[in-house]
Parts: sequence; C-alpha cells; structure tokens
Amino acid sequence: MDPKDLNVTRGKLIHQGKANNVYETDHDEYLELEASDRISAGNGAKTDVISGKGVANNTISKAIFTKLDELGVKNHYVCPGSNECSKIVLKTEPILLEVIGRYFATGSYLKRYPETPDMMPFVPMFIEFTEKDDARNDPPILAEDVVQQGILDGFELDKIQKATRQIGEALKDFFAQCGGKLIDFKVEFGRLPDGTIILIDEISPDTCRILDANTGDVLDKDRFRKDMGNIAEAYTEMMNRVNNMDQ
Ligand code: UDP
Repeated sequence: MDPKDLNVTRGKLIHQGKANNVYETDHDEYLELEASDRISAGNGAKTDVISGKGVANNTISKAIFTKLDELGVKNHYVCPGSNECSKIVLKTEPILLEVIGRYFATGSYLKRYPETPDMMPFVPMFIEFTEKDDARNDPPILAEDVVQQGILDGFELDKIQKATRQIGEALKDFFAQCGGKLIDFKVEFGRLPDGTIILIDEISPDTCRILDANTGDVLDKDRFRKDMGNIAEAYTEMMNRVNNMDQ
C-alpha cells in the first residue's frame, strides 16, 4: 500500500527505544516506527551509532514483513513511512515476551550451557522465551510459566510457537536467497484491539544472526557485540543483497 493513499501524518515522538523511535500518527490505529542508527548490546551496556544502520534495518525489515504477509503470517507492517528509515505499523498492545528461535547453538545459549559444542544444530528448530523486562535483564522463562504468569493463555502459546516455527522456516529461505545462513532470531508479538495476536517489532541483522553461506562472514550485530569491525559494511551488504533479490 502507498502511504499517500492512507494519508497518514507523523505525530509526536512517544517512545525512544534502544534502536527504534516510535511516533504517533493522526490515525488511532497506526504508529510510525523509525529505525535509528543507534546500536546497543548487553542490555544497553555498550552503545554506539552506526551510520546507515537505520535505513538498512528498515529496508530489510519491510521486505521480510512483506514476505511473511504473503505467506499468511499476520504482522504489523502497513506501508513505508515518511522517510527511508521508517514504516507505518498497526498499533498493538505489546506482549512482554521475546521469542527466540535457534537453528544452531550460540550466544546466550552457550553462556548458559558452556559444554554445548559451538554451532551445534537444533533439529527441529529450538524455541525459547525471555521476558521483556530490561530492569531484570530479560530473564529466560519456561513456556509453562508464560501461561502460569498469565502472559499468554495455552491456546495463544500454541499459536505463537507454531507461528515462530513458520517464521523461522520463512526467514531461513529468505536469507538463503540472499546468500546467507540463518543461525538464530528473535521475534515479538502484540495484540490488536480485537485480541488478535500478530507479529510486531522488527526483523533485521539486529535481531537475527546471519552468516555468509559461502565464507562464514558474520553479517549481523555480532560484529558489534564482538568488536569485529566493518559493522556498517555488514548491514549495508545485507540491505544490498535484499534489494537485489527476486521478490
Ligand atoms: N536477540 C535480540 N534481542 C535481544 C536478545 C536477543 O534481538 O534482546 C536476538 C539476537 O540477535 C540473536 C537471538 O535473539 O539473533 C538469540 O540471542 P541470544 O539469546 O543468543 O542472546 P545474545 O547472545 O544476543 O545476548
């Protein structure tokens, strides 16, 4: 959809997250989500600004949400926003959960289970949950406790687990088409006013681990987490690959 057809105008900044800015719009049902150049790791312990990251993440996120919509995965993306770093999205009540899909063991999984071989494959993809709570460092939470704590009911939990598997397979294909190998990813969900749960937030090299399928080069935020250098280059490389892929 063309934003001009919707006639949406950006309103005031209502939230500044670690990487994204959220604006209200003159339509109650829409927000404008802007990807900034800010980057952070370790729950804000380490921060920087990477020129070009906002446009890269927004471009990649828009392409992924469009693909997921075609595959029947309901998500909040509506149309491009007022600049190349932003998009118009449906307003939801965010569910305070991060859902992580892992195809290979790395990152926090290895910190928790150091005996696990680096990059051990998970077949089928392994799903885990963390609470979205910066003050408590986004602690892991069991699926059973997600229900016990009233974050989701049992049916919603089942739906989110199934959706995350479908999203994982779609992301694996998407990144394979641009010469990448998906290692793991994080997704978030929210509730529309009628209670429908949809995929929200962003899906980008900030929220996925992607390696070059041929060389094994790191094409995601691990370049920042691990001080590997060429951070802007990796985000731009992913954006160029997405722009050049057959949609
Ligand atoms: N992730 C994210 N936001 C978070 C935590 C993790 O987007 O707050 C993503 C991360 O980029 C990776 C996946 O989720 O693709 C799994 O991350 P992990 O649990 O291994 O934690 P990390 O090593 O990032 O601390």
